[in-house]
Amino acid sequence: MQDYKHILLAVDFSTATQEIGQRAVDLARHYGAQLTLIHVVAHLYEEPVYDLMSSFPADVETQLIKNAQQSLDALAQRLGVPDAERVVEVGTPKTGIVQAAKDREVDVIVLGSHGVHGFELLLGSTANAVLHAAPCDVLAVRVGQ
Ligand code: AMP
Repeated sequence: MQDYKHILLAVDFSTATQEIGQRAVDLARHYGAQLTLIHVVAHLYEEPVYDLMSSFPADVETQLIKNAQQSLDALAQRLGVPDAERVVEVGTPKTGIVQAAKDREVDVIVLGSHGVHGFELLLGSTANAVLHAAPCDVLAVRVGQ
């Protein structure tokens, strides 16, 4: 098997984030791979009606992006990888994660089998969508069961 050179850790800041992150860090250390952390902020205002509310949506989105950057910084510290690249995208989680993996020529995406969206499915909706669209390996860390 080929060594992994670049690992993308996708996080939604749900309770298992530390555990999932630790798996990605272990993998990165094992292979001597680069590690990138990503969170995708949901694009709140895609409907044309929000054009009428010009300043409010931009403020909210800007704040969400800032919060995500701070949370990724804190996570990188907790995981002991303060130099890891941190990426915040806006859009749908699947599109943001897959595009970031393509742009950075990532070898493996690490995410949770389930996140904030609950446990009713075998795989969560983001995990499932990423698995189908990823240009590389996907490691879904089993959480909550
Ligand atoms: P889900 O399939 O939505 O239950 O989430 C499964 C996993 O996908 C989570 O444990 C995260 O690793 C990842 N994920 C979900 N939403 C996001 C997001 N907005 N940004 C980055 N990763 C996410």
